[in-house]
Amino acid sequence: MSINQSGWRPEMAGGEAAPVKTFTGNKGLMLEEALIFEIGDSGRTGVDLLEAPKVASRLGGLERAATIGLPGLSEPEAVRHYTRLSRQNYAIDLGLFPLGSCTMKHNPRLNERMARLPGFADIHPLQPVDSVQGALALIHLVGEWLVKLTGMAAVAMSPKAGAHGELCGLLAIRSALEARGDARKVILVPESAHGTNPATAAFCGYAVENISATAAGRVDLEALKARLGPDVAAVMITNPNTCGLFEPDMKAISDAVHAAGALVYCDGANFNAIVGRVRPGDLGVDAMHINLHKTFSTPHGGGGPGSGPVVFSESLAPYAPLPFVEKQGDHYALVEEETAGEHHAGSFGRMVAFHGQMGMFVRAAAYMLSHGADGLKQVSEDAVLNANYILRSLESVLDAPFAASGPCMHEALFSDDNLPEGFSTLDIAKGLIDEGFHPMTVYFPLVIHGAMLVEPTETESKAALDQFIGALRSVGERAKAGDPALKSAPHLAPRRRLDETLAARKPILVWKEPAAAQAAE
Ligand SMILES: *Cc1c(COP(=O)(O)O)cnc(C)c1O
Repeated sequence: MSINQSGWRPEMAGGEAAPVKTFTGNKGLMLEEALIFEIGDSGRTGVDLLEAPKVASRLGGLERAATIGLPGLSEPEAVRHYTRLSRQNYAIDLGLFPLGSCTMKHNPRLNERMARLPGFADIHPLQPVDSVQGALALIHLVGEWLVKLTGMAAVAMSPKAGAHGELCGLLAIRSALEARGDARKVILVPESAHGTNPATAAFCGYAVENISATAAGRVDLEALKARLGPDVAAVMITNPNTCGLFEPDMKAISDAVHAAGALVYCDGANFNAIVGRVRPGDLGVDAMHINLHKTFSTPHGGGGPGSGPVVFSESLAPYAPLPFVEKQGDHYALVEEETAGEHHAGSFGRMVAFHGQMGMFVRAAAYMLSHGADGLKQVSEDAVLNANYILRSLESVLDAPFAASGPCMHEALFSDDNLPEGFSTLDIAKGLIDEGFHPMTVYFPLVIHGAMLVEPTETESKAALDQFIGALRSVGERAKAGDPALKSAPHLAPRRRLDETLAARKPILVWKEPAAAQAAE
């Protein structure tokens, strides 16, 4: 496909064709928006409050002397401000979200409807358990599905995200090791692991050591075996891994780890690629978190809190956190510190104040029940099929490092290897913004130079995939043709290339009056 056939025209790049300079700064329907502090002022308000009665202050001279400094806006000004900002954003409800390792799939509206049922939405965690039996039954039901789907023995529903689940799993592992008087200090993490894995291990006070990857992007089993020893507490393995590949040696890894007296933590964030087809319990996993906001379609990325239940093997179950829901005859009980019996005396304690993200449990239950067991199997099959469609459609344009070794799982991985001198992954990502897509995950996983990781998920149609493939192909071909306009993309977004490093390292989080800001410089 030549550049012109792809629909891209030089004038789209801006610069060449004279841009229309507008009075407002708006570009047609792409509306400019100033900071809320710049459009508001302290003398305006959207509400009409009664004059406060004069009361004698009892603050002993600690009353605030200066104004709070909130921007004052009328109601329509406030509504328009946030609506304009929302139009500068990208969302799963606008288009395909190709982020790899993050699983941004459609959030079914049925889930939302169920989560708003008053019996779920309007209850309080401190209500007597007899008055919330339905809610406890639902938590129990989701837990049962997770235990069954993973082939594990027990589940902790309370962790509130994947990374929180990792913490939960490692705390249980540490408790189990301490219970046998074996304070091991090292956690092994393969190169292909998600970044949260080493961060969690370090947070728990463990020394983290890397295990290298093979040329095929998998854990190097021999390197792992060579490092195992009496100081190793656990290995943390992401499976399928962040190269979008299944670890075929998983059972051999688990056996070797167990033989060395250590435990196996599996990062199950990519469970959506294998749900209904593989049970991690059969592979010797001791603890694994599941991101309900990935595999089970609950919203995330600004749309809702995450939820990261953790499943445990038989041997680790006694160390799982409290509380949990237990079915006792027809009654659902909440097992807490006071009511935990002998069997749970080893529990490491609580992860959260209450019981987890109730609203997300309802959404996940709606997703599970509407799909059924056969539907969930189809979910993973379609997710893998879609990713392979992308991989095979684009491997002739972008370098696909592991494509020769066979199909991928739920995400397709590309590198910057065959881009011409002067062009990088960043240019491809920015070019995609002009095409109306959120960029894919870039420069991760770290094992691949200039990585581009694309996860389409099962919820995209073939038409949507074809449009995305066409866009990415076009951008890739522009890079290969040396199109200089790509170096300064995006041209059709409210902002161009921002200094992302500066924004991350020196974020400006407090607005100052322009005069004050100038004086501070
Ligand atoms: C998303 C993800 C995590 C972290 O999960 P959060 O819910 O974002 O904390 C961990 N590992 C992998 C492989 C992931 O994709």
